[in-house]
Amino acid sequence: MGTCQDVTDRKQAELKIERLNRVNAVLSQINALTVRVRDLDELFREACRIALETGGFRMAMIAMVDQATTKIVPIATAGKDEELLQFIRNVFASDEKAPTTMAAKVIRDKLAMVSNDTEIDPRALLRESYTRAGVRSLAVLPLMVAGEAVGILALYSREKDFFREEEMKLLSELAEDVAFAIDHIGKEQRLNYLAYYDPTTGLANRGLFLERLQENLLSSQPDPCGQAVFVLDIERFKTINDTFGQKAGDDLLKQVAVRIVQAGGGDASRFARLGADRFAIFASDMDNAEQVGRYVEQRLSATFNGSFRIRDNDLYVLVKVGIALFPDDGWDAETLLRNAEAALKKAKGTGDRYLFFTKAMTERVAERLSLEHRLRQAIDKEEFVLHYQPKLNLATRNVTGAEALIRWNDPRTGLIPPGMFIPILEETGLIHEVGRWALYKAVEDYLRWRNAGLTAVRIAVNVSALQLRNRGFLAEIGQVLGIDAHAENGLELEITESLVMENVKYSISVLEAIRAMGVTIAIDDFGTGFSSLSYLSRLPVDTLKIDRAFVNDMTASTQGLALVSTIINLAHSLQHKVVAEGVETDAQWDLLKSLDCDEMQGFLISKPVPTEVFEKLFLSLKASK
Ligand code: C2E
Ligand code: CA
Ligand code: CA
Repeated sequence: MGTCQDVTDRKQAELKIERLNRVNAVLSQINALTVRVRDLDELFREACRIALETGGFRMAMIAMVDQATTKIVPIATAGKDEELLQFIRNVFASDEKAPTTMAAKVIRDKLAMVSNDTEIDPRALLRESYTRAGVRSLAVLPLMVAGEAVGILALYSREKDFFREEEMKLLSELAEDVAFAIDHIGKEQRLNYLAYYDPTTGLANRGLFLERLQENLLSSQPDPCGQAVFVLDIERFKTINDTFGQKAGDDLLKQVAVRIVQAGGGDASRFARLGADRFAIFASDMDNAEQVGRYVEQRLSATFNGSFRIRDNDLYVLVKVGIALFPDDGWDAETLLRNAEAALKKAKGTGDRYLFFTKAMTERVAERLSLEHRLRQAIDKEEFVLHYQPKLNLATRNVTGAEALIRWNDPRTGLIPPGMFIPILEETGLIHEVGRWALYKAVEDYLRWRNAGLTAVRIAVNVSALQLRNRGFLAEIGQVLGIDAHAENGLELEITESLVMENVKYSISVLEAIRAMGVTIAIDDFGTGFSSLSYLSRLPVDTLKIDRAFVNDMTASTQGLALVSTIINLAHSLQHKVVAEGVETDAQWDLLKSLDCDEMQGFLISKPVPTEVFEKLFLSLKASK
């Protein structure tokens, strides 16, 4: 015997209470969340998570209406079903289907929508996907801010008939809370934005700039050198404002901001608008003040050479710049910015386009940049000359060759030695052009001697590291040799030992190719570059040139003498010719000769001299047959 009782109703009632409890818990947790969270993204993420974990929903989504495109874009989701999510995203993105979604209808009507059985509901566009994802009912609620539906909150349940009247009441409250938080946080973020950014240009303001600069100085410890702060001011901005109106002035500021950020490499976080027509920039990784000067000159012209289109007028804008360098002009962001502004103030009172904070720096950089400028001109005006220093065979005293040594015939000061300008040519990349010129000039001189019936000797041309590393160098040599079938007999290349050792494998392949063209190779400044013997034996070269320092030491100490003797023997055992550089005394001559050195070069015989002098003194007419 037993009693039979229908418990369906009770069960139903229990389930309902349990459901409401869950929704209630979600509501109170999200309530707490809106009070705590200060960031919209976090709010959305957390709200979805709570819906899932506390509410037991299958999936939750917050989507916002994109103001620009008016499309609905999912911002945050929770729930593991990536596939369903992707379907939803696709539908929202599709021009044709998007307007027919429940979400779109909710936004339009500003009313919540419920589907309590997605399997039979024709409004559930993604019916099959829902079934696959285990979703049986869903609710879409509008997020209302200031009377507008700015987005939706969608909840997906695995239970059929989940969203009844009571649940929906609670969920509407929840949507209101989220919407309130969106409004509140949004306002706060806008205020924050105003506290840190300039609304006209979107650039950082002074406060944020200082913060970022200081951070940059700290984060680049222990080596924060190479940081420079620039403050830039538009000339006659007030006139532009007065003439064209403030809106036009704002427009100009916007355009200037866009251009300086572009010219500065596109990273807007290094830029700021400090006030009216004043901008600030900080740069890192500057090697030296000269580079800072070059940076300003190049960027200034890139930014302000073109006109700005303002109210159908083409306006040209001039700017002045003040520069402060870390650490010379300040150890912290405040001081650097202050000093850059002081430099700017000075520049505004003078004809200078830019000034460094210290006068000495401005002068140094100006001098250096003017030198660079004059060197550029020197190329165009052909102010470089090659002088030749003879090489003699120690046994026969015959002239066996010449080394070409470049000089700059500066019309202002006269002949300038290579040590004063080669480093600048290298730093600015001009060395390629000048180096190519030297190769052509040497080959031309050789051919001229040859054609004049003189005892033409091979000319050694010094090659800079940058030239040798340049992948086009071989082709360049080929072109030079192309001038004449005999050109290859007139050219030798001098390459310093340290350069060759820098990248031995590459050097070997390049040198081999050069020699294959008939050009000979000498290793310059030999003894200073720490060659390893194993590499040395594999180097495809013809000659070793003993550095002047060793020749000098040779007569001073027995060790010095032993060293030169060793180098000579080493060279000979590798089948290389040896040339001693910087020979100045008879004693050195005699010693070198007795050590079996092949050739010498030095003031004892001659300094480097102009071509005509070299021809007269060291080349004779070949005896005619
Ligand atoms: P380097 O290749 O070692 O050239 C030898 C230097 O020693 C030359 O100085 C020469 O005038 C000097 N010299 C020659 N004999 C004596 C001597 O008996 N006593 C003393 N005290 N010095 C002597 P210079 O002409 O001032 O050239 C300096 C350096 O400039 C060269 O050193 C070379 O590295 C570089 N150079 C010269 N011309 C060129 C060029 O066309 N291209 C490149 N890339 N570098 C060049
Ligand atoms: Ca040399
Ligand atoms: Ca040398």
